[in-house]
Amino acid sequence: MNRTPIFLPILFSVFLISPVIPHSAFSQANKKIVIAHRGASGYLPEHTLEAKAMAHAYGADYLEQDLVMTKDDKIIVLHDPHLDRVTDVQDQFPGRQRKDGRFHAIDFTLEEIRSLFVLERYKVSKDGKKTAMHPKRFPLGKARFRIHTFEEEIEFIQGLNKSTGKNVGIYPEIKSPEFHLKENKDISKAVLQVLNKYGYTKKSDAVYLQVFGFDELKRIHDVLMPELKMDVRVVYLIGSGKKYEWTSSAEGMKKVAKYADGIGPDLSMIIPKKTKRDNLRVTGFVKFAHAAGLVVHPYTFRIEEDAIPGYAKNFDDLLEIFYFEAEIDGSFTDYPDLVVEFLRRKNNK
Ligand code: CA
Repeated sequence: MNRTPIFLPILFSVFLISPVIPHSAFSQANKKIVIAHRGASGYLPEHTLEAKAMAHAYGADYLEQDLVMTKDDKIIVLHDPHLDRVTDVQDQFPGRQRKDGRFHAIDFTLEEIRSLFVLERYKVSKDGKKTAMHPKRFPLGKARFRIHTFEEEIEFIQGLNKSTGKNVGIYPEIKSPEFHLKENKDISKAVLQVLNKYGYTKKSDAVYLQVFGFDELKRIHDVLMPELKMDVRVVYLIGSGKKYEWTSSAEGMKKVAKYADGIGPDLSMIIPKKTKRDNLRVTGFVKFAHAAGLVVHPYTFRIEEDAIPGYAKNFDDLLEIFYFEAEIDGSFTDYPDLVVEFLRRKNNK
């Protein structure tokens, strides 16, 4: 990074004065990272292996997996607990929706889910017509894509790592743990068991496990990981709104740091939506997190117009603001190629 000449002497002098400098102070001085949000999902349907291959080739450091469970206790890579915004489930299994009108993945076996075709994410109008959520992305209903399991995706990424000589990491998210527990499925434990099986067991392994919900974060840290003799890095996800305000202080971040290694906040926690470019307001969020030893990986960086806040001139400007003014450590993006290129231009890759 271009401020290294100033930063390093400071780091060393701090080190000389204080022998108990936290490990994270060093990792923050490290290379900034790029996390492919659901794969290279700006170009191919989210969470398909095709989208993951593209993100791997583009040079993303981590590939994200959202995880939910099937009726027969298999873990699949799917963003929603429902199948009806990214597959043709309504056409193949009419009548299998719950009272809420949604087709829940947890009501289908893996075999049934494997028979579905994955489509680019869509909306459904009142008359049942599907329209693409992002009209400029991959065309709706073209080509053939499928849903796969968490284990298959790990094997795919580890396979690509072997054939390319890279070490791209995984970034799995446990979706709706409370909902799964209510359905008698301990998804957090099941996910940790898969990580264990594939060699992700300690903090130096190429994995960040992410979860919303502070109680589940605590259970993972205090109960599940000790039980399985594991200690991988965990990221606490933080949404916008009142529910999460407690995290935005030195005390709040210290509390999070007891259980997590990093945080994944909504962009607006770091820069309020209504701030202006010529008088940019950066909250204390990243500073508090870094002081507590946490890395900060906000979401989600997209090029679509509705995803560029008014204070940023364009996508590059948005990246400049977050990576080098707000000093984040990494970002979730649907366009990993553009973020990798940006960081290369800034000599940070
Ligand atoms: Ca996610």
